[in-house]
Amino acid sequence: MIGQRESVSGAHFAFTDRWGGVSAAPYEELNLGGAVGDDAEAVRTNRELAAKSLGLDPAQVVWMNQVHGADVAVLDEPWGAEPVPEVDAIVTARRGLALAVLTADCTPVLLADPVAGIAAAAHAGRPGMVAGVVPAAVRAMTELGAEPSRIVVRTGPAVCGRCYEVPEAMRAEVAAVEPAAHAETSWGTEAVDVTAGVHAQLERLGVRDREQSPVCTLESGDHFSYRRDRTTGRLAGYVWLD
Ligand SMILES: [Zn+2]
Repeated sequence: MIGQRESVSGAHFAFTDRWGGVSAAPYEELNLGGAVGDDAEAVRTNRELAAKSLGLDPAQVVWMNQVHGADVAVLDEPWGAEPVPEVDAIVTARRGLALAVLTADCTPVLLADPVAGIAAAAHAGRPGMVAGVVPAAVRAMTELGAEPSRIVVRTGPAVCGRCYEVPEAMRAEVAAVEPAAHAETSWGTEAVDVTAGVHAQLERLGVRDREQSPVCTLESGDHFSYRRDRTTGRLAGYVWLD
């Protein structure tokens, strides 16, 4: 259910694993993604189960329509009747509103400035990391009054740099933008480390209170991995402030 949970000065960070939900194979068990082919009722139940285990009202959890871009939405209440916007980061100054990010190998990034009362969630796959979705989220936070030196960041389970094999040209393109993402697989071929790239971007912005999940989704049987299974569920990361 909740694989990792931490609270820092009234900011709460949580990442799910794949167990404890009602979805059938190949989405077993706690698939939280609504656009991956799973039964909609099962996803709704899973989202309720996960929210309850975190002490959250499911109606106060905000999800994104993620598109591997760098657009950011600032909000102070759940989306209304309008379609959920296509963004890969959401930011709020509303305490109690939980922001959620869905992943299965991409890097989920949770950010909070507990003093300013600003939280953000970002979805950073390879394209989003290269496009700068996480720095864009930090900029949106600072415009609302957050200070990079106070921002706490937790990155969740994601495919690691020793597993994320890419063509040589792709690694070169990514490394040209973010050298820290240059990686090599455990079998000696070209790879990308998206999480390392995200942390390097945050370091340059002066965001120093950062931790990284040790879990590699592709190597862990307790997590969904798109690269391993293709048709599979989605994990979620949640951030909110008291
Ligand atoms: Zn790995």
